[in-house]
Parts: sequence; C-alpha cells; structure tokens
Amino acid sequence: MEEHIHPIFERTLSTADKEKLLNQRGLVLWMTGLSGSGKSTIAIGLEKQLHEIGILTQLLDGDNVRTGLNKNLGFSEEDRTENIRRVAETAKLFSQCGIITLCSFVSPTIAIREMAQTIIGSGIFYEIYINASFEECAKRDVKGLYEKAMKGKIKNFTGLDAPFEPSTLPFITLDTEKEDVNTSVNKLFKAVLPLVRN
Ligand code: ADP
Repeated sequence: MEEHIHPIFERTLSTADKEKLLNQRGLVLWMTGLSGSGKSTIAIGLEKQLHEIGILTQLLDGDNVRTGLNKNLGFSEEDRTENIRRVAETAKLFSQCGIITLCSFVSPTIAIREMAQTIIGSGIFYEIYINASFEECAKRDVKGLYEKAMKGKIKNFTGLDAPFEPSTLPFITLDTEKEDVNTSVNKLFKAVLPLVRN
C-alpha cells in the first residue's frame, strides 16, 4: 500500500509563510495532569486571553476529541496511546498552520508525552504540568468520576488503578491546589507571551 502513497510535503507552503501571515508562531501548549486538576479550565482561560490580544488558537480537549475523532477509543493502554497519537498528529497540523494549539489531555505517562513531543517536534511542544493531588481532585470530583472509580465502577482510572507519572521537566508547573484559577491562567499567559509572536 505504502508504495502508492506520494506525500507532497516539500511542495506545500511552509509553516513560516503562514506564521508570517498571522504574525504569530505555531506552537503546541500541552497540558497534562490528573482528571479534575484544572487542564480544561486553564486552557479555556488562556485561550480567551490570547484571543483578546489577537492570537489565533485552537483548543483540543480530551472529552471533546473522544466524542468525535477518537470516539472509537477506550481507556486501555493501547487506546490511550492511539488517542494521544492522533491528537498529537492533529495538533501538529494546526501548529504547522501557525496556530497556537492548546491540548488538554491527562496523558498520564512520560512515554506517552514523549511520543506526543516526538510527533509534534521538540521546539514546538511545550509541556505544562497542571499539578493537584489525587485527594484534591477526588474532593473536587468535577465530573463525578472519582466517586464512581472508588466504588470500582470505572476501571483503569488514572491515579487509582492506572498510573500517573508527574512531569519531570515541564516548561511550567501550575499548582492548582495552592492557587486560584485566575492566578494559574495569568501565570501561564505571562510565561507563553514571549513565545507566541514571530
Ligand atoms: P481537567 O480538565 O483537568 O479534568 P477541569 O478544568 O475540568 O479539570 O476542572 C478543574 C476544577 O478545579 C474546576 O472546578 C476548577 O474551578 C477547579 N480549580 C480550582 N483551582 C483551580 C486552578 N488554579 N486552576 C484550574 N482549575 C482550578
């Protein structure tokens, strides 16, 4: 099959052409953390702030993607890997179009995040660790998942019977257990501001 595929990568317009048009850089801001740690809340807040200063963004969010592109995937290790592989390829397409792409995914292991980084490219991928303890996330229980998981109604739940490996060298860590939403969003906005213009 592959012998019949003839990619046209080298004939297409470059990312630099598109970044120039938009006057911004194409980057991927990859948010990792436990369910309920604050990834979506912070991504939504950051996207608003970037929009206000004229930056074009795209938000890829775990549950949204699982209702569309990845609706045929579950939470086994194999499916989690395929989920992140497809998301990373999608984020890469947006970043190559000059768009600041916010990805909000539990992406629980170092290996799975390294795969995303390898697909996207190391100068393009920025890992943002949204840090809150399992106990804090269980207390928030935004989606009621922790209660179900602790009653054994959800299998392979991250932090309980599936692993979560904290970021080792993130671009930035946001401690959402210690600070409020505005503080976290503002910190992240300040950190990414120097990166977004070309
Ligand atoms: P995730 O996307 O990681 O599953 P959500 O964004 O859906 O998490 O939920 C996070 C919850 O934590 C929200 O109810 C939010 O109001 C609360 N929260 C408390 N402090 C923070 C903070 N500093 N940043 C983000 N969310 C926070």
